[in-house]
Amino acid sequence: MDTVTKRTLRTPEDLLGAGLIAPEQIASLVLVAERYATAVSPAVQEVMSRSANPDPIVRQFVPSAEELRTAPEEMSDPIGDHDHSPVKGIVHRYPDRVLLMPTLVCPVYCRFCFRREAVGPESGALTTAQLGAALSYIRKTPSIWEVILTGGDPLILSARRISEILAALDDIPHVKIIRIHTRIPIATPHSINAELISALKSISKPVFVAIHCNHASELSPKVAEACARFVDAGIPLLSQTVLLKDVNDSVESLESLMRALVALRIKPYYLHQLDFAPGTSHFRVPLEKGQTLVKSLRGRLSGLAQPTYMLDIPGGAGKVPLTPGHINETEHGVTSVESIDGTVRPYRPPAPH
Ligand SMILES: *Cc1c(COP(=O)(O)O)cnc(C)c1O
Ligand code: SF4
Repeated sequence: MDTVTKRTLRTPEDLLGAGLIAPEQIASLVLVAERYATAVSPAVQEVMSRSANPDPIVRQFVPSAEELRTAPEEMSDPIGDHDHSPVKGIVHRYPDRVLLMPTLVCPVYCRFCFRREAVGPESGALTTAQLGAALSYIRKTPSIWEVILTGGDPLILSARRISEILAALDDIPHVKIIRIHTRIPIATPHSINAELISALKSISKPVFVAIHCNHASELSPKVAEACARFVDAGIPLLSQTVLLKDVNDSVESLESLMRALVALRIKPYYLHQLDFAPGTSHFRVPLEKGQTLVKSLRGRLSGLAQPTYMLDIPGGAGKVPLTPGHINETEHGVTSVESIDGTVRPYRPPAPH
């Protein structure tokens, strides 16, 4: 990248001006832009320009002509959000928790996004009436224990708007936990300011923040400071990572990411198998390779740094862990366990009494 600008790059011309694409790519990227939003924030530009190996960052945020190829197994709503949406802005798949999406706008647009056909700058925020209807669904559904604010990126909203949503959730007695899924600490770390932190602290219910991060080089000094502002304020941080070809699909890359997250007091939560969103096949890592990587991490990394490898079953049947099996039943009813170095040893469960 040639120049770091003070503004978000959104068009093929912007990307050309910053030296992120070549002139001959313009025509195909105009077609990509008709379908999928682009945003490369100044902080992400800075990370690209400073990194000795910017490719894992460039690949995540700079559009490519490969996105024009939709594989047969790809679908516009890969995890069936639509079928589980009782009112606009809510996805309710598991009894005890719901997703609440107050906005579909993001500070950056990941090229592999699972909601790429829903998110974008024009998708906008819920209207006051729509948000009211979503909140009343939560209010009248007593099984909901946790509300997960996602989108889009909920932390792109103003601190005032975030406080209003939290205050409404604080008033619903059966909601005990609030979780926020965000990429803001990486995309616009300066916006994790005192005002935002005090909005998150304005209610007494626990608020957890889960940060989407896929490569250790995303964790610049500014990002580290932004993360510290949450933890210092008593807000626990988790991370979610998507397993991506030529971004983080090596044991070294995953190991350094997980270690860097824990060093910032962020607990690795999930490593996601990539969903079948359209135009993302160039990012897909085969499940078998993912399982091999995760198995190697077990031997190399502290338990603190282990994420759970997860699949969101295509079509909307929910999430399942893909953790490699270490325990096997043999035909004689003897159970065997496989240790990290691959040796198999017998394990006999206690006799039932
Ligand atoms: C992923 C997801 C959740 C959260 O699942 P956890 O396993 O609790 O992180 C909740 N609701 C829906 C609809 C989801 O897709
Ligand atoms: S931040 Fe999340 S919702 Fe937004 S584009 Fe990236 S993956 Fe999609």
